[in-house]
Amino acid sequence: MDSQQILGIFAAAANDPLGYARAWKDRTGRPVIGSFPMNFPGELAHAAGTLPMILQESPDPITVGHGLLFPFYCGYTRSMVDQAARGDFDVLDAIMFGDHCVQLLGAADAIRVQLTQTRVIFFQLISSMCDPWTQGRSEESFAALRAELEDLLGAPVPDAALHDSIRLFNRNRVLIRKLYDMRKTGKAPLRAAEMQHVVKSSMIMDKAEHTALLEQLVAFHEQAAPQAQPGMRLHLSGHFCQAPKPEILSMIEDCGAIIVGDDLYHGFRYISTDVPEIGDPIAGLARWYLDRNTGVPCPTRVQNNVDWDAYLLDAIAEERADGMIVLMAKFCEPHMYYYPEVKEAFEARGVPHLLIETEHESMALEGLKTRVETFVEIIRRRAAAA
Ligand code: SF4
Repeated sequence: MDSQQILGIFAAAANDPLGYARAWKDRTGRPVIGSFPMNFPGELAHAAGTLPMILQESPDPITVGHGLLFPFYCGYTRSMVDQAARGDFDVLDAIMFGDHCVQLLGAADAIRVQLTQTRVIFFQLISSMCDPWTQGRSEESFAALRAELEDLLGAPVPDAALHDSIRLFNRNRVLIRKLYDMRKTGKAPLRAAEMQHVVKSSMIMDKAEHTALLEQLVAFHEQAAPQAQPGMRLHLSGHFCQAPKPEILSMIEDCGAIIVGDDLYHGFRYISTDVPEIGDPIAGLARWYLDRNTGVPCPTRVQNNVDWDAYLLDAIAEERADGMIVLMAKFCEPHMYYYPEVKEAFEARGVPHLLIETEHESMALEGLKTRVETFVEIIRRRAAAA
């Protein structure tokens, strides 16, 4: 299979996640467990023999969901409730999630009311990441989640199976990180939408199937010669629970930018951190949960010794990026609260950045394009004058 065929399979799963899940369930006869972003350990549900999939925002307009959730909730939560109300989640045997923001909690309650036959399992995750009791409390949460899964499926989730799943998920993350590294050097000149398909499909597809395809894709690029990458090098930041619309990513690139790094959830944030492979697997998952916030800090978590803005400045230096575009989902409170710190830090350091607020509903791309073109031109002139 060549790289375009592999990317085509990833794109198909990314564009129709529930269709993929239905086909997988028909083929295997096994349960499908949906989860909300961003902290669900898919390894646990995988070790239980299910297909864990991260539920995705639908591109469809919100219809029946309008009356079920406040219009000032983010597009992701409104889309989740709308899909539930339309019956799109009929393929799911359960939905599991750990809280990370108020809007997600509200959406889960609205979904519970809609899906009376589907078990919606909530597990509390400590949001303070650097207290002496944080590791222990995280272990308690993941142990409770494991017990819920065992109760749901009527079978134990053995340590050995969990170790196998952890190794498989780690391998998947390692391979995607290799693609990220090769993108920086031009060996894997993937467009931003293609990179999104790689990561998003990893959230959806059977992990063994996805990993086998990734092995081929990485091997293909490892043999390729680096390609020159004309354009201003940009880092993309933000956008937590939902994937940015691919047309926005393409528009940014068409304005003369190349994306050399990101901290998007449908990007590097999702694959930044591995789970320790030795020792107690629940302790390992708790460690992963804590380490992720050091790997790529999240504004929904609290950690005194970690700064998202400092992380971003370091990432941009390491990627040799000329600037950053911040993609902020409309009404995403954690992002709105934290963004002023990022803005201040970038202005103090003199690193150019542009904020774009995205909406679930259709967006006027032409107006945005003018702003991005102007931003890229400013960076170009600054670089030329330096
Ligand atoms: S973190 Fe932001 S995008 Fe995610 S559910 Fe909360 S408000 Fe929505």
